[in-house]
Amino acid sequence: MERMSHQVTLIPGDGIGPEVAAAARRAVDATGVHIDWEVAELNADIIAKTGQSLPPHVIESLERTRVGLKGPVTTPIAGGYTSVNVALRKRLDLFANVRPVRSMPGVVSRFQDVKIDMVIFRENTEDLYSGLEHEVVTDVVTSLKVITRTASIRIAEYAFAFAESAGRKKVAAIHKANIMKLADGLFLRCCREVAARHPAIEYREVIVDNASMQLVMRPEQFDLLLLPNLYGDIVSDLAAGLVGGLGMVPGANMGEKHAVFEAVHGSAPDIAGKGIANPTAMMLSSALMLFHLKEIQAAERLQSAVEAVYAKGVHTTPDVGGTAGTTEFTDAVIAAIR
Ligand code: NAD
Repeated sequence: MERMSHQVTLIPGDGIGPEVAAAARRAVDATGVHIDWEVAELNADIIAKTGQSLPPHVIESLERTRVGLKGPVTTPIAGGYTSVNVALRKRLDLFANVRPVRSMPGVVSRFQDVKIDMVIFRENTEDLYSGLEHEVVTDVVTSLKVITRTASIRIAEYAFAFAESAGRKKVAAIHKANIMKLADGLFLRCCREVAARHPAIEYREVIVDNASMQLVMRPEQFDLLLLPNLYGDIVSDLAAGLVGGLGMVPGANMGEKHAVFEAVHGSAPDIAGKGIANPTAMMLSSALMLFHLKEIQAAERLQSAVEAVYAKGVHTTPDVGGTAGTTEFTDAVIAAIR
């Protein structure tokens, strides 16, 4: 029987994006799965030229394929255009940002003796990422934090449903409702309401500052973390630091109709073009994409190949203490695909 081909929009992005996206594409193709890649360029230059942070060719492609694999795109700091990443998540209503954080055997990190296996569920469409900022008078600025019942219930339901289907036991809602009593208070009430509908899953609440310390002191206690947008963003990088850094952690932006897979890391301008970026996060994001496409065997083979390369510890990149470049690591992964 002719194998099914999947259409996927590949957005290489900028900075190290094109390097890690090319590596991930090679690794996915090496699993034997049939992907019809539709490349949609999106980077700081295109945005500057078109004046649009979301040019129509990118949206048109994603609306058609419904599945994207995306490299990072640079966002100007303290001015300039709005974040492409935030705009894309809002435009396609990719409401759940899911980030599995796992120890990788063989990776040297400060926490290598601890088994870390948690999944972060970050609300992806509102909170302080609403972009509603206002200069009231010179040198006085307000930034609106938007929390809605609809979005909070939706991310909580998604997290609890995932916990049940994946056989996970515990959800921790992370908040600052002691200070933001209304905004984080609403988020928490929604989490409690959803938790009550899923009594088999143990539910608890942790204030975000304490959660940050707990993550560093005893990361093994966490199973699923459920967070509003900003805390989810910050805690994701913290959690990445526990398992070897930003080069290691994949992510999925999930909506009702669309899914865009991307690493947690950004465009890493400090190492762009040097051929040393770690493509692991992008490859593991591709594996999440393959699971989403129901190419379970290909996903597992890709994951196992990445793990095998780390277990051997010979062809790893400088960010995790190795000496290999992006291409050498990718060649080793491809050679390890069984
Ligand atoms: P970053 O993630 O790009 O880099 C932080 C540090 O981690 C750097 O030292 C970098 O070299 C290292 N690093 C990141 N990924 C790596 C990899 N794959 N291999 C090896 N080392 C890696 O964060 P930043 O410097 O704060 O952000 C740079 C730009 O990326 C900003 O414009 C930011 O807005 C953007 N960004 C984009 C996304 C996205 O597209 N989804 C996400 C985060 C940041």
